[in-house]
Order: sequence, then C-alpha cells, then structure tokens
Amino acid sequence: MANTIDFDSVRKLSGGALDGDAERNYSADFPSVRDQVSAEEWKARCDLAACYRLVDLYDMTYLIYNHITVRVPGTDEFLINLYGLTYKEITASSLAKVDLDGNVTWKPEGTDYGINSAGYVIHSAIHRARRDVGSVIHTHSTAGMAVSAMTAGLLPLTQNSMRFNGRIGYHDFEGPALSPDEQQRLVGDLGDSNAMILRNHGLLTCGPGIPEAFNTLYQLETSCRAQVAALAAGPDAVTAPPQDVIDLTAKVFDPKGIRTYGRLEWPAMLRKVEAETRNNGYPYYAS
Ligand SMILES: [Zn+2]
Repeated sequence: MANTIDFDSVRKLSGGALDGDAERNYSADFPSVRDQVSAEEWKARCDLAACYRLVDLYDMTYLIYNHITVRVPGTDEFLINLYGLTYKEITASSLAKVDLDGNVTWKPEGTDYGINSAGYVIHSAIHRARRDVGSVIHTHSTAGMAVSAMTAGLLPLTQNSMRFNGRIGYHDFEGPALSPDEQQRLVGDLGDSNAMILRNHGLLTCGPGIPEAFNTLYQLETSCRAQVAALAAGPDAVTAPPQDVIDLTAKVFDPKGIRTYGRLEWPAMLRKVEAETRNNGYPYYAS
C-alpha cells in the first residue's frame, strides 16, 4: 500500500523555504541564543550541534538531509536542524524547536529556513511512543543503506554487530512519507530496541540522550561497514561464531547490563569535535 503526501502542508510547515528563492534569507550565520535559553536547553543545544558534527566527521551525512533530534529537558519540545544547512554548519543557536506534531515553536529570528516536516515524522512517532527516548538519529550512510537492502539484514560477523543480536528492529519500506498507520508500524517494529534498520532506506538509533544514541549509531554504522566489506569476499568466505558466543557477546554489551555505552565516551567525542572543527572555516559548533 502506498502512502499519500499532502505537498501543500509540507511546504507550509517548512516555512515555504523549499525552492532556494534568492530573495529569501538563507544566511548560515546565526546570533547566539545562549542568554535566552535555560542552562539545560543550552547544554542540549551544544550536545546536539556536536552530534551533527560527529556524524559528519565519521562520514555519515547526506548533504542537507536527515535529522538528529533531542528533547528539550523537561518539555515536549524537540531541537532539530534547519532544512538547508550541512551538518558542518550547524550550531547550537541555529537549531529550531518543534512540538510533537511538527509545528515549529521557535527558530532563529529572520531566517527563511524551515524544517523538513516529512523527515521529522519518523522522529516524532518515536518521541511520542517512547517516553524513555530523549534522542533519535536517522542516517542514509552508504553502508547502512547497503545492509538495509540485504535479505539477511545485519549479520553477527563481528563483535561490533553481535551486540545487536536480539536487540534491533526491522521496518519494511512503504515509501518516503509516513502515514499515521505506518507510524504505528514503525514504532511497533522498533519495540523497546534502541536500533532499527529501515529496509531499503537506512539506519535509526535512539537512546535516553545524545551520548547513548550516538554511540549506538557508531556501533551500528561500523557493523554495517564491516559487513559490506566482508561480504565483498563472497557469502561463502565469511564466518560467524556459534550462537552461544553471539548471545554472550550481546549480553556483555547490553546497555542495561555492565554499563550504558556512550556516557564515558561523550566527553572524548566533544574533545574530538572541539579539536577537529575549531577554526576549520565553519561556525564554532557551540555558538
Ligand atoms: Zn530517511
């Protein structure tokens, strides 16, 4: 069954800024809002901007497309990228705020950039259904798309991928726009996992916060890259350990087990962003 899409409402929600009209304000220079928001929101803004930069640094971007969202602490509003900026350009102050229905409740003054409402629907469906989720990341990386098109899905070929054994959802492709019905199926397919392969589409991870969601994305992306590389040798040339070893590995890396992966790593990730993006010609991420 094919979903339908209301193009007029998408244009309206996107602030009408879909055509690249030269007379509109498409400046990528945004004044700081640090003094206008709570300390908690500023931290969420800096972490989210850093996460966009990390997804770029690890080569998981797709021009101006895709989204990473984070809940503004204590609210039902979410921070999201303006539609039109590359991830290298995203700063803490450039992030728009949206509610669960995709209404833009705040965006930088004077800008004609809006948000990509159609893309946000995947995120809002999960934020609405999973109160334990603070952040959602969706990518169209080459390796992620490649594995999403494989009949077998993610294979337990590496230690990285074994952590997802029994802990990853699959959602069949139904077209680029999500109907309310499909949103239910998407949420059902994710279940209580924090990772999902959108078949013939890409990858999705989530977590209580950005540190956990980014770490899961990194593990999933590297698993997919390794699988694509290994399968280039042919399906008969690869091997996987016995099921009990796969199960043990998944247990060791259970985020509810020994530790929640991502939190110890996050300060190091911030140092990486700091070192690799300071003075690189793009705006400072935490500005
Ligand atoms: Zn997508």
